[in-house]
Amino acid sequence: MANLDFLSKELEQLKADGRYRPLTEWEGGSGSWMTLGGRRVLQMSSNNYLGLTAHPELKRAAIEAIEKYGVGSGSVRTIAGTLDIHGKLERELAAFKGTEATLVFQSGFTTNQGILGSILGPDDVVISDELNHASIIDGIRLTKASRKVFAHKDLDQLEQALKESASYRARVVVTDGVFSMDGDIAPLPAIVELAERYDAVVYVDDAHASGVLGRNGKGSTDHFGLHGRVHIQVGTLSKAIGVSGGYMAGSALLKDYLIHKARSFLFSTSQTPAVAASCLAAVKVLGRSPELIERLWSNANYCREKLLALGFDTGMSETPIIPIIVGSPADTMRFSDALLAEGVYAQGIVYPTVAMDKGRVRLIVTASHTREDLDFALDALARTGRIAGLI
Ligand SMILES: *Cc1c(COP(=O)(O)O)cnc(C)c1O
Repeated sequence: MANLDFLSKELEQLKADGRYRPLTEWEGGSGSWMTLGGRRVLQMSSNNYLGLTAHPELKRAAIEAIEKYGVGSGSVRTIAGTLDIHGKLERELAAFKGTEATLVFQSGFTTNQGILGSILGPDDVVISDELNHASIIDGIRLTKASRKVFAHKDLDQLEQALKESASYRARVVVTDGVFSMDGDIAPLPAIVELAERYDAVVYVDDAHASGVLGRNGKGSTDHFGLHGRVHIQVGTLSKAIGVSGGYMAGSALLKDYLIHKARSFLFSTSQTPAVAASCLAAVKVLGRSPELIERLWSNANYCREKLLALGFDTGMSETPIIPIIVGSPADTMRFSDALLAEGVYAQGIVYPTVAMDKGRVRLIVTASHTREDLDFALDALARTGRIAGLI
């Protein structure tokens, strides 16, 4: 009888490389302190930037939506699964983002797959930063478009690629707004200028910029004052927004096209009522809570300055994502384990997510962390960092 033993070889290799990780099961808590193995642990790896996952208004909206609509939506959006709260969420999000329209998908991942996989054909070219997120890479793989990759934030290479792309029907430049493993910000004003010079479409994935960059967390387009000059913005509702889902913000034409063509939209059941309603509540909370974003940035800047003063290598970080570069996968995982023994959870990120010698422990600072929380983490980092020879 056939079996799946052929899979075990790769797992053995992961174990040999120190890259094998069982899943961590959290037992409770949703703020900066969570419970793991019966122990209180400081959470430094969550994308819950603003603490919205446990916001009372979001929880209440979810419970009320379950009472009114039930727990499931029952269908894909195009058949019987569009509830009035889905429509309301899209209108509120469009007003928040300052775009003509938005379209909500079940996740940021499927948003990129749905858009890239549907708008590009064999006569088009997509030009992508080498450090773009896996969902962008997979979205591009779904198309027959030509592809060009430029070195991370290398504007000369981008211009060269644009120059060589004049004969295509459409040129799409795609970049993360904030890079998820390094915490640096895309040079969007220069990308937009180049795109305008070479008649290209600009596509920004703001998964880590949604709720983080720009006024009230409106994203990188708002942060750089580029309204009307970025054709396609992708946001996630799963990170700072605190719930789950993703969305496209752009023109009504693009929305109309995606409703008819994006396969991840067409063939997957819509967001549950509780999810749609709590996303809607989150957009309202964001709109009136600039202080959350201020606290997020003041915490992030405090933490990064202290880490640099201690002598850590924080790579290219300029946002609340702060990597501490360690090195090999095994060293990285050992450092992460040592931190956990001190009560600080900071997951190691290793090859193939990052280069083999650029393994890192990635810290994500949030608005929910108090200064005492951050000092607790910094003390643990200083002790373990000295033992590991990092500082
Ligand atoms: C996390 C992330 C996504 C995926 O978003 P989900 O809502 O978690 O599916 C897409 N793009 C980037 C850049 C991300 O960091």
